[in-house]
Amino acid sequence: MQLPDMADVVILGGGCAGLALARCLAEGNAALDVHVFEARDHYEDDRTWCFFEDGEHAFSALVSKRWRTWRFSDAGCSLSHHGQRFTYACLRSIDYYRHCTALIEAAPRVHLHGGAKVLGCIEGSEDVLVQGEGWQLRARYVIDTRPSALTGRLPESVLWQQFRGVEIELDASAGRDPDAVELMARMRADAGGFRFLYVLPLSRTRLLVETTRFAAQPVSPGSLQADLKEDLDAYLGSSRFEVVRTEQGAIPMGLRTKPSQTARMTYAGQVAGAVRPSTGYGFRRIQSWAHACATALLEGGMPPAPAQDPLHRRAMDAIFLEAVANAPHRAPNYFMRIAKQLTADQFAAFMSGQETLPGVLRLISALPPVPFLRSAGRQCAAQLRFSDGVRS
Ligand SMILES: Cc1cc2nc3c(=O)[nH]c(=O)nc-3n(C[C@H](O)[C@H](O)[C@H](O)COP(=O)(O)OP(=O)(O)OC[C@H]3O[C@@H](n4cnc5c(N)ncnc54)[C@H](O)[C@@H]3O)c2cc1C
Repeated sequence: MQLPDMADVVILGGGCAGLALARCLAEGNAALDVHVFEARDHYEDDRTWCFFEDGEHAFSALVSKRWRTWRFSDAGCSLSHHGQRFTYACLRSIDYYRHCTALIEAAPRVHLHGGAKVLGCIEGSEDVLVQGEGWQLRARYVIDTRPSALTGRLPESVLWQQFRGVEIELDASAGRDPDAVELMARMRADAGGFRFLYVLPLSRTRLLVETTRFAAQPVSPGSLQADLKEDLDAYLGSSRFEVVRTEQGAIPMGLRTKPSQTARMTYAGQVAGAVRPSTGYGFRRIQSWAHACATALLEGGMPPAPAQDPLHRRAMDAIFLEAVANAPHRAPNYFMRIAKQLTADQFAAFMSGQETLPGVLRLISALPPVPFLRSAGRQCAAQLRFSDGVRS
């Protein structure tokens, strides 16, 4: 690998956040030398990013499918939301990787190095030394998006959203409604926590079917596979299908610790808490951070960490997560109440961080007061204990 001695900006990890920042710097025609180091030597279609959208955005042209209807169901009932203002959009990761890497290739001062695993960083007062196997580079600023950036182990989180899924091609005779997403279907709880089924009908016969679990500790891949088989059997019955690809992940919901920014190192992406704690959605939040970060760098400033949510949203997310973690068997009821009480657009606005006061009030009125007041009390007590610990 041919490298200079010094770069202006080095990005560790060329996944969603790393590529987002490199793309913005490439598009901004940065007068900065930027190097991205990515462990993978090639990109695959490894995930599907979905989000609620209400108008044009930087990735509108890459969206492969949009839906206006999304459904919820538990053992007792099912209901549908039909968005007026919002649609639910899906973007294949391979289209995103290709789009970003093409823009980066066209930018003379932004370089993406694949197959380049970063082994460590040594921060000095003037720069950071980034080291890999047989290569090193000094940088004025480092942005670390590696999932292991904090400790090399899984960080602590209130809950983990874990999922395992398959993209399948059904027999034509078994085709499904292509116009409605099963956002949270078959919601229930078992000994392992709260679980549900998520189905994206990419066409009448092509589906992404994912089994999803919220649990205090990540469960084994074998156990998730067993959940998936059970969900597939229940959802598809005896319909025949062929598996096209698999997708899996574990998203922290409510990170308890995040790496702290220093003068020369910024942490970004999922590891830095870019994912919304109560939902696990992170794609659009990461894009907003990348835009703000590139703007700061292009103006000669320091790269910022992901922005914090406003206090009311942080408090709501923390209370909600705590209530679900404390009583997972009640989670199906909480989600069904929210789905019943909120309009489709209010729900989508909440999920995408655009909630309004009437929407927040409706959400609060949907939930049973006693468990949520208890959860709020426990949150306040934890905050007081924390601030006592910090003072003493
Ligand atoms: C399967 C899956 C599906 C998701 N779906 C959605 C969704 O539908 N909607 C949504 O909003 N959010 C979703 N998320 C949450 C979030 O948007 C993604 O996790 C997003 O990819 C996080 O971006 P990131 O850059 O932090 O991490 P990643 O995209 O995982 O990127 C980290 C990169 O660092 C690289 N790396 C790791 N170690 C090293 C090293 N030592 N040296 C160099 N490179 C290294 C990795 O190879 C990887 O490319 C999903 C997450 C997962 C896991």
